[in-house]
Amino acid sequence: MPNNDFMWLVLEPFVHCAVSGSNALLYNTVNKTCLVSKGSEEIADKIRQLLVPQNGYVTGIRKEELALPVFRKFMAELRKKFMGDLHDPAWSSSKPFNVVPEPVVKSKSEALSNYLGEVTFHVNSSALPGLEKFRAGYLQFPFPLSATAPGEALSTDRIRAVASMMNPLPFATVNFVGTGICREPIHSQLTEIFRDTPFRTIFHIPLWDLSMPLPARMNKNEQLAIYVTFPVSPRQLELLAAATGQYPRKGGPDVNFIVQNNDEVDQASEIISGTGLRRFFFKPYLNGENMDFFREQVFMSEDDILASKPTQNQVFSRLTMNEHDFGKLTVFPNGEVYANVNDEPLGNLDEFSLEELAGKERDRKTSWMRRRTELDPCRDCLYRFLCPPVSNYEILMKKFNFCHIHS
Ligand code: SF4
Repeated sequence: MPNNDFMWLVLEPFVHCAVSGSNALLYNTVNKTCLVSKGSEEIADKIRQLLVPQNGYVTGIRKEELALPVFRKFMAELRKKFMGDLHDPAWSSSKPFNVVPEPVVKSKSEALSNYLGEVTFHVNSSALPGLEKFRAGYLQFPFPLSATAPGEALSTDRIRAVASMMNPLPFATVNFVGTGICREPIHSQLTEIFRDTPFRTIFHIPLWDLSMPLPARMNKNEQLAIYVTFPVSPRQLELLAAATGQYPRKGGPDVNFIVQNNDEVDQASEIISGTGLRRFFFKPYLNGENMDFFREQVFMSEDDILASKPTQNQVFSRLTMNEHDFGKLTVFPNGEVYANVNDEPLGNLDEFSLEELAGKERDRKTSWMRRRTELDPCRDCLYRFLCPPVSNYEILMKKFNFCHIHS
């Protein structure tokens, strides 16, 4: 093309693009604005050209193309959102130099301390009356009921052995999940293991456990997460109010309401306002029959996705790993270790060290690296790098689109 026949279209290096058919999306990670173009082959083709690695986010655009209303509108929006601009080729003898936003994955050191950030111990697998219907709870969140045989328990010696393998870690979260784990002597045995570490320890217990006194003393790094399932009896409500009142930390314990329908959401809201809870969470429970509830309460709309406004770092991590799972291991009462409890176990602590098990996950890349760019239908979706990481619900259902975009 002669120099006066075209302009260079240059995108800013903090802008991420996705194209699908005749649709295109551009996202500015600095001012968090989005430009969505739907149904224009011309714009989609131009974005495809920008994404060709050799083009480096710079491509030519002819003056007659620029005269088209669709391009004029696109360019006006691109400039308004500080996503890119046109460069006159007369300004330099060569194509403008640009930087393309791509994550660089360093794998220099394989030391555990470089990536392990959280270990969850399912301490026991008691089957409490009334909890049977939440059998799949542990596959969705750290629910205090495990899938292994009832009565099986993780010995403190085994937990101590794992703790010694975690010792070089500068910082980590340790979750204890189970029933009766805040009672003595087990509470003292567990806290003693991590007393002299910088690790944060969180005890995940069912509401039923509040019928026994909570530990009188807690370590400064220790937290409590209570799981409330419905129906909640008046006695349990009293216990919850008493436990939150006695809780030695500002803000109170984390109270997780396991909700299966809108009625339970309403009941939880009443409890929250009646007891003045300050740290509460809703954990929707997928029971196999309440997909309509999930569609209404959990599935993301386009507005929800655009409102998430990820930073450049978050976009990079969504392109390379699963932020929910990366650096996390779960130990079951029988010693089996998982990178995600919905996937095959990595192996047993009887045979492998923590470092070897983490190394296995690094090699197989099943859980920690599960990302939308490699799953259907997300891989062809415009929102694949804006959507939150794949959730346990989606892995459990093998349905990677808990959204209203491709449902
Ligand atoms: S299809 Fe996947 S990437 Fe697209 S909006 Fe739905 S969940 Fe997000």
